[in-house]
This record gives sequence, structure tokens and C-alpha cells, in this order.
Amino acid sequence: MEVLEAVLEARRLLECVTPLKTDCGRACGGACCQPDEDGQGGMLLFPGEEPLYADLPEGFSIREDDAVLPGAKLLTCDGFCARENRPLSCRLFPLLPTKTGAKMDRRAWAVCPLMESGKRGLNPAFVEAVKEAGQVLYACPEHAAFLDAIHAYNEQLKKFEL
Ligand code: SF4
Ligand code: SF4
Repeated sequence: MEVLEAVLEARRLLECVTPLKTDCGRACGGACCQPDEDGQGGMLLFPGEEPLYADLPEGFSIREDDAVLPGAKLLTCDGFCARENRPLSCRLFPLLPTKTGAKMDRRAWAVCPLMESGKRGLNPAFVEAVKEAGQVLYACPEHAAFLDAIHAYNEQLKKFEL
């Protein structure tokens, strides 16, 4: 599958399903959409996703961010976007696909209260959709490399956990 086709399919799989059966953002105030204490906030775009944001709504911008991998594109936002425009990273959060399933994304510890209860606390349909999206993404070398880089970054985060 081509890069864009794969990301669109993964986004479609996660269009209607959410981490909890109810709105998880009610309890945390939509923490994953809020800027951090430095006024920064955003999500990495997957390969092929940047052209989908050619006409950025007001309050959104895209910049390079090398924290996870060189040349990656970070979409920053004002904390609200239409559901159909959510980047794939936002749709997957706080999970991350693996080659064989899905695991909690360590980057989410900073903001997401769902991390405490882990994968078993999530909506099973959401977990399944992330796994299916992972199968689509890992079949595409660009997405596989991108996910591998995020997993490697998350392994580094282990060093900072108590
Ligand atoms: S931070 Fe976690 S609980 Fe809160 S809205 Fe985001 S995914 Fe849901
Ligand atoms: S792009 Fe949308 S879903 Fe993602 S963090 Fe920003 S407002 Fe939230």
C-alpha cells in the first residue's frame, strides 16, 4: 500500500472509535489537546499526512521537530479540531501500534489519565482498531520506520521513569 493510502486507511479505521466508550476528555479536560506549560502542543504527523493539512485552519501550524526522528513534522494546534481532521497520532493516542498488536504510548504519561489503567482499561473496539491500523501501517516501509523510531524514542523514555 502506498504511504498516503496507508495513512488514510489507518485514519479511517480510527474515525469513529475512541479510547473509552464515553468521552474520555470530560474527565481530563481534553488534556492531550492542550498546550504544555511552554505553550507548546502538537502531534507528529505520519508520513504522507502533511499534504492533508495544506490549508491549515487558524491556530494550526506545522514545523519540523527532530525530537523523535530527524525531519519529522509536528502539527501544533489551538486545542480544537473537527473530528474528521484529526491527525492519525491523535486518533491513536494513548496507544501505539506494534508489529503484532498495540501498546500504551509512553509519551502519554505526561498528560493522559488512562495510562494508569493501561490497555485493559480501554475500549476493546479502540484497541482492536489500533491493532488493525498497525497491520496496515507496518505493511508500508515508511510507516514501519516511523513507528519503529517512536518505539525507540519511547524506550529511551524508560530511563526517566522512576
Ligand atoms: S489525555 Fe487521555 S483521557 Fe484525556 S482526552 Fe486525551 S486520550 Fe482522553
Ligand atoms: S490536532 Fe486536534 S485532536 Fe490533535 S491535539 Fe490538536 S486539537 Fe487535539
